[in-house]
Amino acid sequence: MTETDAALPTDLRCSAKGCGADAVWALRWNNPKVHTPERRKIWLACDEHRATLGAFLDQRSFLRDIVPVADRDA
Ligand SMILES: [Zn+2]
Repeated sequence: MTETDAALPTDLRCSAKGCGADAVWALRWNNPKVHTPERRKIWLACDEHRATLGAFLDQRSFLRDIVPVADRDA
């Protein structure tokens, strides 16, 4: 992703602390203790942090799916 690529808004940044890279993936998750079942929270991740953010959510059984960032609202 470059600054001349207008396909995505510029505020789609990786959610990993201190990263700030362009997001490539959307991790969709739900915490059943605080969210209704159909609710989806979204973390954005770059290629590098997809695995670490996904593992964090998966360990807590919060992770529902991971989709390309452009498909996050689908
Ligand atoms: Zn990142």
